Amino acid sequence: MEKNYKKGDVLEVTIEDLSDEGLGIGKHDGYALFVKDTVVGDRCRVKIMKAKKNYAFAHLEEVIDPSSFRIEPLCKNARACGGCQLQAMSYEAELDFKENKVKNNLIRIGGFPEDFIEGIKEPIVGMEKPFRYRNKAQYPIGYDRAGNPVAGFYAGRTHDIIPNTDCLLGREINKTILECILSFMRKEKISAYDENTGKGLIRHVLIREGFTSKEIMVCLVVNAKTLPKEELLCETLIKEVSAIKSICINVNLKDTNVIMGDETRVLWGKETIEDELDGVKFKISARSFYQINPVQTERLYKKALDFAGLTGKESVWDLYCGIGTISLFLARKAGKVYGVEIIPEAIADAKENAKLNGITNAEFFVGKAEEVLPDFYNNPDSETMLHPDVIVVDPPRKGCDEKCLETMLRMEPERIVYVSCDSATLARDLKILCEEKYELKAWQCYDQFSRTVHVEVCCLLEKLKREKDFVQIGIDAEDYYSIKDLEKEED
Ligand code: SAH
Repeated sequence: MEKNYKKGDVLEVTIEDLSDEGLGIGKHDGYALFVKDTVVGDRCRVKIMKAKKNYAFAHLEEVIDPSSFRIEPLCKNARACGGCQLQAMSYEAELDFKENKVKNNLIRIGGFPEDFIEGIKEPIVGMEKPFRYRNKAQYPIGYDRAGNPVAGFYAGRTHDIIPNTDCLLGREINKTILECILSFMRKEKISAYDENTGKGLIRHVLIREGFTSKEIMVCLVVNAKTLPKEELLCETLIKEVSAIKSICINVNLKDTNVIMGDETRVLWGKETIEDELDGVKFKISARSFYQINPVQTERLYKKALDFAGLTGKESVWDLYCGIGTISLFLARKAGKVYGVEIIPEAIADAKENAKLNGITNAEFFVGKAEEVLPDFYNNPDSETMLHPDVIVVDPPRKGCDEKCLETMLRMEPERIVYVSCDSATLARDLKILCEEKYELKAWQCYDQFSRTVHVEVCCLLEKLKREKDFVQIGIDAEDYYSIKDLEKEED
C-alpha cells in the first residue's frame, strides 16, 4: 500500500546517492528523499519540509550513523551558507563524486559505452589544498540585529546576511580588508544598503587578488555617485594592506539583484590589476571576467594546449573566448588564433591582453559563435580560416548551439578540444560531434571549484581517419560526406 508522506513527517533513511546539486538522496519504502548536508552512507533522521507525490525535500535532523566519507566541515557556517555543498564529505570522496557525475552523463546522455569511457579517462586533477583558492570575493554588506554594519553571505535562498568576513574559499587577507571597511563605516557613520527600502550606501565589497603579481583591487559597490570621506577610506586601507594597488567605486543605483552597475571610478591607484597564467599576462578591471581559481585554470589550459597538439603553424579557432585567456595560451604555439566572444568589453580586453604580451597572431571577433562561425564559413576570407587545424570551445553551462556544432563539423578540423563546465550539455554536444566524423579520444576532469558541486572537463576529439579507407575502395571522401548531407536533408 502507498504511504501518504506529508510535511513534518520524521523518518529514518540511509543516503545512497547525491544529486547533481549535491543533495543526498535516500529512499523510504521506495519514496525518494532529498536531504541537504548529508553524505553518501549516512544513516540519518530527517524531517519532510516539502512533500510531492514521488519525492520530498527533507531537513537533516540528526546523523545517527555517519558515513565513512563524512568529515567535520572546516567552516562553521557550512550548513547555513550553502555556498559549498560538499564540506561534510572527504575531499577524496568529492573527487570521486565529480568524476562519476561526468562519466555517468557521458554514458547516459552521450550514449558512449561504459568500457570505452573508462578506457579513455585520464584521472581527475584535484587541488593539493581545496581551500583559499578563489582570487575574487564578493561580500554583501548589511546590518546585524543590533544595527551594526556587517559583511557576510546570504543565508540559503534568502537575502538575510549572516556575518562572516573569512570565507574559507577566499584569501585570508579579505578579512583584514573587510574589517577595515566595516570599522570605517562605523566610525564615519556610513550606511549599508537596505534591499527592502532601497536606502543606504554600501551594497557590496569586491576584492580581487592577482596570485602571481600579489596585487589587490578593492571595489566598493555603492548606491550613490560618491562616498563621504573617500580619501580617508583610501588612506586607511592602503596603510593597513600595502598590496592594495587599486581602489574603485562602482555605482549601482538600481533596485536589482545584479551586483555591479555600469559606472566604475578609480578612487586611488590603478584602473586594473595584473595577473599571470603560465607567463601570459592579463589586465583585470573591476568588471572583467577572469577565472576564479588560477592554480587549477593553469593546469586545465595546459591540458587544452596539449590536446590541441600544436607545432607552431596551425590555425585555431577559440570559440567562447572571454578575455582571450585560452586564445593567448594557444597563440604562443600556433600559427594563427581566431577568438570569438559575445561580450564586446571582453573582446576589447582580449585585444589589450594580446598587445600586453606582444602577441600578434591572434585576431578577435565580437558575436555569437553560432553566427560568426557560419558567416565565415559561407563567406570565407581565407582557406586557413575555413579549414582550421583545431577548434577549441569553452561554452557557458548551456553548451554549444546546434548551428555552431554543425558548422564545426563542416569545417572539419583535425582536432576539437571541448572545455566544459556542465557535463550534461557536454555529453549532448559530444553525441552530435561523434555521430559520424569525430571520435572521443580522451577526457579529464579538473577540480576548479573545490567543496562545491561544480566541475570542469577537458575533452579531445579527433577526426576519424576514414579517408584512407575511402581511397582503398576508390571513393573520394568529399563525395561521401556530401552524399551524407543530402541524405540528412531528405530526412
Ligand atoms: N574561455 C574563456 C571564457 C569561458 S566562459 C576563459 O576561460 O576565460 C564562456 C564565455 O562564453 C563567456 O565569456 C560568455 O560571455 C561567452 N558566451 C556566451 N554565449 C556565447 C555565444 N553564443 N557565443 C560566443 N560567446 C558566448
